[in-house]
Amino acid sequence: MIITAALLLVARPKFALALSPITSGPTFAKVIALTFDDGPHPFHTPQLLDLLDSFQIKATFFVVGVKAAENPFILKNIVKRGHVLGNHSWSHPNLSKLEGKEVEEQIRFCNQAIKAITETPPRFFRPPGGNWNNRTLDIANKLGLQTVLWTINGYDAGFDSYSPQALAKTVIRRATPGAIVLLHDGGNFTLAALPLIINTLRKEGYSFVTLEQMLHKPIKPISLAHSN
Ligand SMILES: [Zn+2]
Repeated sequence: MIITAALLLVARPKFALALSPITSGPTFAKVIALTFDDGPHPFHTPQLLDLLDSFQIKATFFVVGVKAAENPFILKNIVKRGHVLGNHSWSHPNLSKLEGKEVEEQIRFCNQAIKAITETPPRFFRPPGGNWNNRTLDIANKLGLQTVLWTINGYDAGFDSYSPQALAKTVIRRATPGAIVLLHDGGNFTLAALPLIINTLRKEGYSFVTLEQMLHKPIKPISLAHSN
């Protein structure tokens, strides 16, 4: 009996890669996964990590391989602080417009950079710009990656007329149990919106989890509420 219990504790639930992209987690618990694309950045990422620490929140970072290779200590720090890394290609091209071999290299090189620096290969992949086709999914799948898109796009990249308050409102208004929120590891704009997003959604009873927690492990709403 004890041996069986011990085995259950160490055994990771086998996660079958879905061929279609995942756009949300299970909806039975009030959990939300914040995801940050396009880092790591030498100035912005440390600030984002400090902010997440101050709220005791773990998130998921979809990193660009070439930036990861340029900022290995920041990449390690993301993992050290308990966050999850995902693959966001090697150099952020539109993968739906590349030849199959180039797509494969874009995804594989990013995997290799993450593994070389952190000793752990990523499990999740998000195509740059959300541009994908069946071939993209197939290649990611063959490289052992689950493609993950998002439930809520915060539109925090490239929208000049947008304010941090408007960004916060967009996310808060559309929040649902199991939502995956797309944000960017890109600077003050997102950093300014995050406290409002986090505080408001916590008041509404939401907890924040990584994609690993949301998609791989059985979610227990009560214990998650305590840890976040
Ligand atoms: Zn991106």
